[in-house]
Amino acid sequence: RHDPQGGAHFLEDESTKNFARKVADHYSARSNQTLEEREASPIIHLKKLNNWIKSVLIQLYARRGDAVLDLACGKGGDLIKWDKAKIGYYVGIDIAEGSIKDCRTRYNGDADHHQRRKKFTFPARLICGDCYEVRLDKVLADDAPFDICSCQFALHYSWSTEARARQALANVSALLRPGGIFIGTMPDANVIVKKLKEAEGLTFGNSVYWVRFDEEFSEKKFKSSSPFGIKYTFHLEDAVDCPEWIVPFQVFKSLAEEYDFELVFAKNSHEFVHEYMKKPEFVELMRRLGALGDGNQDHSTLSADEWEAAYLYMSFVLRKRGQPDKS
Ligand code: SAM
Repeated sequence: RHDPQGGAHFLEDESTKNFARKVADHYSARSNQTLEEREASPIIHLKKLNNWIKSVLIQLYARRGDAVLDLACGKGGDLIKWDKAKIGYYVGIDIAEGSIKDCRTRYNGDADHHQRRKKFTFPARLICGDCYEVRLDKVLADDAPFDICSCQFALHYSWSTEARARQALANVSALLRPGGIFIGTMPDANVIVKKLKEAEGLTFGNSVYWVRFDEEFSEKKFKSSSPFGIKYTFHLEDAVDCPEWIVPFQVFKSLAEEYDFELVFAKNSHEFVHEYMKKPEFVELMRRLGALGDGNQDHSTLSADEWEAAYLYMSFVLRKRGQPDKS
């Protein structure tokens, strides 16, 4: 069944559907913040750091004229980053109707948003749909192949079932050209499981976040359970309060190989910062974004708790096998 926005739906297990709806409703309900609200956020530096990480990934892998697929694009927070990379075409998909609406407003440049700016130079198509449930090769038959696909802070929502995790990878694989790049940032399962082992009970966190596992996924049961559907609740101050799923990285890597991807790199956010802060252009970008200040002024840099929350994430780069078309 197709809807007029170009999305499609098909029957799925009831509880999976409910969780996907819960995630969609959560993100849909989050309205755009004003510049003042944003700057007052207890995780403002973490947000800036995450924007820096996404910008670095985009600058490293996007090329002028690229056709871009942004899976779970949210409110279009990365549109400007893609514009700076001078891409040629953009397709953004998200399950949350409210976010796609905000994204459309931002793209059209008539938002009361702080990034009031000239129109974007690339054409864009914005679609509301569940990227982990629907076969996107049909929906996007006229837009493919893409040179690069990005899925930022969202791929873990596909790990509620094996079918969804596979559909996510099948979609990206079917839509990328040979040699195309898949970039993403998602929770680092190694860090989360390590913290759970060190925790007193099934909850851990600090002043900006907490993670809570259900009894059925206590650490001892991890080994025997399926690598899919390992649910926890994630709360990040001023940002997220959602059911999420562990993505065991080695399983992710093998599954990605089944869909013709090879791993270029995977790095925890701490390692990512240390590595790319060696490059002057990215140091300058960090200075401009204001994520890591000199620490001399109060609140000019990440708090220790924000830095610990950053450690929960990792970025990956995968390449679709095959040689790009010479023509
Ligand atoms: N990628 C954006 C960014 O980096 O700013 C948004 C990240 S936000 C943390 C996670 C996004 O994933 C939300 O916009 C949510 O609606 C979207 N999402 C979750 N499950 C999804 C699904 N099944 N299909 C499409 N989008 C989904």
